[in-house]
Amino acid sequence: MTPTTAPLLSPAEIATRAASETPYLRFAATAFAFRDRGQRLRQLAAGHPMRDYLMFAASLAEAQQAVLQAPRHVTLPEAAFLGDAAHRGEPPLAFPHWPLHDEWLQDLHALLDALAPNAPAGVANVITQVRSLSGPDLRLQAERLLRQMPVGLDLAMAPLVGAALQVYWTRLVDRTQKAFPDLAFGRVDHARHCPCCGSTPVASVTRIGATEAGARYLHCSLCHTEWHWVRIQCSHCETSQDVTYQSLESITAADGPAYTPPAGAVRAECCGACGHYLKIMDMSRDAHVDPVADDLASVTLDLLVSETGLQRHGVNYLLLWGDDAPEEPLAGPP
Ligand SMILES: [Zn+2]
Ligand SMILES: [Zn+2]
Repeated sequence: MTPTTAPLLSPAEIATRAASETPYLRFAATAFAFRDRGQRLRQLAAGHPMRDYLMFAASLAEAQQAVLQAPRHVTLPEAAFLGDAAHRGEPPLAFPHWPLHDEWLQDLHALLDALAPNAPAGVANVITQVRSLSGPDLRLQAERLLRQMPVGLDLAMAPLVGAALQVYWTRLVDRTQKAFPDLAFGRVDHARHCPCCGSTPVASVTRIGATEAGARYLHCSLCHTEWHWVRIQCSHCETSQDVTYQSLESITAADGPAYTPPAGAVRAECCGACGHYLKIMDMSRDAHVDPVADDLASVTLDLLVSETGLQRHGVNYLLLWGDDAPEEPLAGPP
């Protein structure tokens, strides 16, 4: 046998090479982003203990898709504004550096109009409450949500307000990217925040596909953008030490699973170093996982992981928890 003389790559070199070939950013497919989420929510709702809420979430996602595709004027940033943010290493469309334009209110009222005809009584009451608020009061609710501060935030209205903000920012990022494809978005200094809008992730997704197979992305809780994140690394403190995984199947076995995705499709990535966790969805286990929908349907995982003392840092506008300590940011389980 002739020994090979081909140079071998070290594991670190393989990881670096793989990362360099993986697209850093994945932008929302605006033609079906919320539609797919709605379909996944309906699939998860069947037989689920939270069926009614998941069905409401599905209706909301479908309304978001319709509103996202409605004709709308949106104020876009100037090239100089984008260049300045890039120079500072900051996400250009982060609130409040990018102000909340009143255009988002059109999305909110369009969402309410789409939901109202078939809304169950509880949702109809909340829709009435939202409609009764003035523009400035709605803006206050939106700003509290964007700042992730629960003081004065109406938790019943928050899913509707958050849904409108998601539509507004998803469209804003999409149009900005198309208007300035080489300038708009890139890497930022604080990698755990969305490079487009500066928000925190809702969860992460391990993807399938030709150029992305096995690559892990964080999914923005606000604008739908995904950005690459190496595997087995805490997305809160960025350490790779003391990272472990908890899955719903293993920790709910004693009580009987409330929701049973394929084994390993939804796990919690737990960090012993900083005490936080973020869920990770694996498309190779279930090609239809959705970060928001599967996060919502696996709330049992949050409850059980939080019992170990870990704190959630993923933000889901459909899963905001009240908190006894109002200074604490939203996102932690009770
Ligand atoms: Zn974002
Ligand atoms: Zn950590």
